[in-house]
Amino acid sequence: DVLSIGEILIDFVGKDTGLPLAEVKEFTRAAGGGPANVVVGVARLGGKAGFIGKVGRDAFGEHLRKVLEENGVDVRGLIEDPEANTTLVFVALNEKAVPEFIFFRRGTADTRLSPQELPLEILSSTRILHFSSVSLTVEPARSATLEAVRIAREAGSLISFDPNIRLSLWPDLESAREEVLKALSLADVVKLNESELGFLMLPDHPPETSQSYYAMGSLEALIFEAYTLLNKGPRLVAVTLGDQGVLVMTLKEKIHIPAFQVEVVDTTGAGDAFMAGMLMVLVEALKEGMGVGALEGEWLKRIGLFGNAAAALTCTRPGVMPALPRKEEVETLVGT
Ligand code: ADP
Repeated sequence: DVLSIGEILIDFVGKDTGLPLAEVKEFTRAAGGGPANVVVGVARLGGKAGFIGKVGRDAFGEHLRKVLEENGVDVRGLIEDPEANTTLVFVALNEKAVPEFIFFRRGTADTRLSPQELPLEILSSTRILHFSSVSLTVEPARSATLEAVRIAREAGSLISFDPNIRLSLWPDLESAREEVLKALSLADVVKLNESELGFLMLPDHPPETSQSYYAMGSLEALIFEAYTLLNKGPRLVAVTLGDQGVLVMTLKEKIHIPAFQVEVVDTTGAGDAFMAGMLMVLVEALKEGMGVGALEGEWLKRIGLFGNAAAALTCTRPGVMPALPRKEEVETLVGT
């Protein structure tokens, strides 16, 4: 039902928070990469999920394959690259509680996926293809991702995009904005957070700020920007608002669904969990013969509820992949 393409890596998560990343002494290791998290999320929610990407021929690559397999993700599209290392990321919360990242991805496996290696059969038989902008920051992964989107689209798949903007991976702000907007125009459904929306729509917006339009009371500004985004191509946009929930919009409708009140332990991965919940509802809609453009009222509400519930449950547990919830937990929280 859902196929992801793109970054797959090992996250080294700093145990000591509040220090600059270079001073952190202890890290825990976890399987990660946005698109990989999303398909594990989909599989946990009972959906059929697959992954296309590359890992190195090393212990990290083996671990990643095992984690995907154990979660029931189809790994026929996961290629092992004998000449490259698996991509690594070090991350820790600095003194401002903002995550700081160091990427080890120069020439690493997931950046080396090439258009010739794409598994055509798998690509042309999925209901949804999901990607993020991280794989667009370097060649040949960029061409491979765009080619995969083209193939899946031609085969009639729905294209899902999470900008997941990591500014340090782009040469400059302008190219980040331009490339992400281009990718967005290829997508049917997009999920992004408030600061990404601000960055894409307002040239003067300070990037990666935690500024919340919602908290500032300027919901109109947010809605206006989301409409502008909808006019650039996607037919459905979900703007996540942290503990304020989500705004789900089409050109015809907008629905705000408040977040579930939970005891928060760790919010990392909330966005990926939301995406997984949202995609599961879209799979249901597609199975019932609904097109994205035709989704309204109850469906939009269901997307917001399932996305919020999956995300909220993830916030109650540490880590990302291990924290992603099962279908029954989400249904219990949503109350269906
Ligand atoms: P990201 O993590 O990608 O920056 P957000 O912070 O907007 O995205 O969070 C994504 C989703 O996670 C929100 O739409 C909401 O459903 C859920 N979420 C985030 N923080 C909380 C929280 N404190 N309580 C409950 N749900 C939350």
